[in-house]
Amino acid sequence: MKHTMRILCLMMCLMLFFGTALAYPAGFLVYHGDREVNRIAITVDDIYDANVLRAMHELSVELDFPITYFVLGTQIRESDKDIWEDVIARGGEVGNHTWKHPYLTRISIHNARNQILLTQEAWDNLLGYHYPLRLLRPPFGYYKEGNVNLLDMFYEYGVEKTVMWDVSYTDPAEARKATQNGSILLFHTNYEDLECLKVLIPQLIEDGYELVTVSELLGMEPIETSEEKYVFPYR
Ligand SMILES: [Zn+2]
Repeated sequence: MKHTMRILCLMMCLMLFFGTALAYPAGFLVYHGDREVNRIAITVDDIYDANVLRAMHELSVELDFPITYFVLGTQIRESDKDIWEDVIARGGEVGNHTWKHPYLTRISIHNARNQILLTQEAWDNLLGYHYPLRLLRPPFGYYKEGNVNLLDMFYEYGVEKTVMWDVSYTDPAEARKATQNGSILLFHTNYEDLECLKVLIPQLIEDGYELVTVSELLGMEPIETSEEKYVFPYR
């Protein structure tokens, strides 16, 4: 009897241990950085249009500010490799925006996981080395809906920050008015947003903001790359 109890107890302990997902830490979900510091970050999502990507990158070089891009796995193109290498070389940053932009809360958790990991694999294959896509921007900002909350899953699969935003205007005057210390501004690779940035960026610099990457805004260590490319293990 005593022996059986002991085995039962051990089994329950094991179930508790392995059945519990890693809990994401405080500060894992961010909408903005420090409100006391005059730093802000420009983020650009989706990258459907390679011409706009090139133009935005040229603008960031010309006006000397970094962009944090959130890429979709399906939009990672060999023909853009030179741009991405230059983005990284000049202090820009790249994060994960999933494989093909689903509502992550409305697909199976395995599919949602694959959306993240397959993008990492494609990204490493493009660069030829491992560059961790440690920032995740969930499509449409959906990480939680009804009983589904994916933050623990994101954390379990290597995401270090789930990055939302606090300014999403594409009209320069509106965007300027809404921006404050620590703001994360959301844009997309289309011509309207490109035109907005051309007007807005000099104004934000004039307003005294320092434009930084999301990692810098959040005080993260620099990204550590390595030789061994990520290989998706669930085929
Ligand atoms: Zn998007």
